[in-house]
Amino acid sequence: MTKINILSPLLADMIAAGEVVERPASVIKELVENSFDAGAGKVTVEFKNGGATYIRVTDNGCGMSPEDAGIAFTRHATSKLHDEKGLEAIGTMGFRGEALAAIAAVSRIELKTREKGAEVGTCVTVQAGDITDMSPCGCPEGTTITIRDIFFNTPARLKFLKSDRSESGACIAAALRCALGRPEVSLRCLRDGQEEFFTPGDGRGDSAVYSLLGRDIANGMLPISCDGEDVSLTGFVSSPAKSRGNRSMQYFFCNGRYIKSALLQSAVEQAYKNTLLVGRFPACVIYLTLKTSAVDVNVHPAKTEVKFSDEKKVFDSVYQTVRACLEAEQKPLEIKLSQSTQRVVAEPKQDFFKSMSAETYRETTLKSTSPLSNTAPAQPQREAFFDTRARSVKTPVSQPRFSPVNVEKTVETVEKIATPTYRVVGEALNTYILVEQGEELILIDKHAAHERMIFDRLKAQGRQIMSQALLEPVITKPSSDDAELIEKNAELLSQLGFELEAYGASAYAVRALPDDIDAFEAGAAVEEICDKLKKGRLNPDSARDEALHTVACKAAIKAGRRHDMRELERIAESVCSGQVKYCPHGRPVAVHLTKNELDKFFSRIV
Ligand code: ADP
Ligand code: MG
Repeated sequence: MTKINILSPLLADMIAAGEVVERPASVIKELVENSFDAGAGKVTVEFKNGGATYIRVTDNGCGMSPEDAGIAFTRHATSKLHDEKGLEAIGTMGFRGEALAAIAAVSRIELKTREKGAEVGTCVTVQAGDITDMSPCGCPEGTTITIRDIFFNTPARLKFLKSDRSESGACIAAALRCALGRPEVSLRCLRDGQEEFFTPGDGRGDSAVYSLLGRDIANGMLPISCDGEDVSLTGFVSSPAKSRGNRSMQYFFCNGRYIKSALLQSAVEQAYKNTLLVGRFPACVIYLTLKTSAVDVNVHPAKTEVKFSDEKKVFDSVYQTVRACLEAEQKPLEIKLSQSTQRVVAEPKQDFFKSMSAETYRETTLKSTSPLSNTAPAQPQREAFFDTRARSVKTPVSQPRFSPVNVEKTVETVEKIATPTYRVVGEALNTYILVEQGEELILIDKHAAHERMIFDRLKAQGRQIMSQALLEPVITKPSSDDAELIEKNAELLSQLGFELEAYGASAYAVRALPDDIDAFEAGAAVEEICDKLKKGRLNPDSARDEALHTVACKAAIKAGRRHDMRELERIAESVCSGQVKYCPHGRPVAVHLTKNELDKFFSRIV
């Protein structure tokens, strides 16, 4: 007697269903993708009880002929793939001809569909894989497919469904990912009769982000775009101040398909290096466009994983585009003055332009820990300064900030308000510098801002950090673990400007330090660097950045201590000019209070 059995087609479909139809949310994904492939401009997704009893997807796509409607539920029935060649260049969301068969095997389905231009439609009912009825019917052009009682004939699978709440959440997330991937399609999602979201389908990524992820997220997004020969991308990334506690707001799409990709995730996150605190993550919505032959979508039945033929190229494009966007956000704008403004400011304020240049920024920050040795003459109140914040001041708070940084426009705005606008009023709580600028009061965290100034300067110094020889070496006694790390990382420490020499059996003499650190901080700085090395951040690049953070933090002026006004003015200058926006960990360095807000607070206006 033979032991081997050939499984019945229904049983084979039920098994296959496990891969495609994991839960109601996967049904929604498959059905909406079919609507997209049918060229629909409008799709409505409705579900009840977490999708377990009822899912309906309606579209205004191409519809099916009665013949096609009759075979659509058969396994491997697809209109999207004809031969092996086609497999190398998949341009549709579906191609495996599996979804409808898999869904049909485990539920009760009603399909109503009418082809464009056809006089009547077709209604098909299917139960556990068998067509139970098929007849002509009246219905609008397009397709409506209703799925009831999913897993009714597979109790083991039914048992694994989670609560209504969590299945509903998964259904909404699945519909949302589809909608976000296709801003040109208007998608409405209803849960138990209540609208969850609606996208206008105007083809704009910003509208889709706004209606799906909400105003808060949308307002903190910066647009990105890159039009490469092999890889093109558009989308949005969050500004460093709007980072998130997890990765749930990271969305990647490849040729319109939502994908999960550790490669893309890491490309984006690396671009944020030095702008985000550890444990904070950027939000992003990135649309990649690649030649269909450069990406293999046939890796997994659900097709959320893909394989890029040139991973490095994809990584580099994403990394560089995001990096460039963040750098543009950090950099002060180039400002050209109008003729009339130049006349007003050129003569009396010789150092006006100088104060804007990167050179001066470096010069003024170079000696910032010992301001009295600076050669700058004692100045009276510095008044003339440019409101480079015009671009953010002019951005209406209630609207998404989506227009790419537009220098032309900014120049125009700046010209209009090119009056002296910046004055250091004083310092509060020995921590915050108070600055009046235009119609705003700015509070600057002096330590955070100064830390960033130093960090940027150290980074600009290249591999070898400037070092100061100490007149008297500082003796430090590290733990035996730390001593080992010091020995192992001698070269890195020397590049960072530390010169350490064994002193007796267990101590070290620190003979030189990075230029900015005071001698009395030598021991603490070495200890902190060892700490960071210990935490496993040993790859040379990140170890160096981590170490630079320590140097910058140690060298920056401290909150809680009083500082010379000139020193505070230099910091205010770099913040008001837009040079410095975030500390090296991504915390903002300044808070802006508008006169309007203050007036409202005091009920001067309502
Ligand atoms: P695939 O999408 O991989 O081709 P499916 O099982 O999802 O496989 O669908 C089978 C076929 O049914 C599709 O190839 C398509 O021709 C047709 N079909 C499914 N849904 C729709 C729809 N909403 N509008 C028009 N045709 C559809
Ligand atoms: Mg499909």
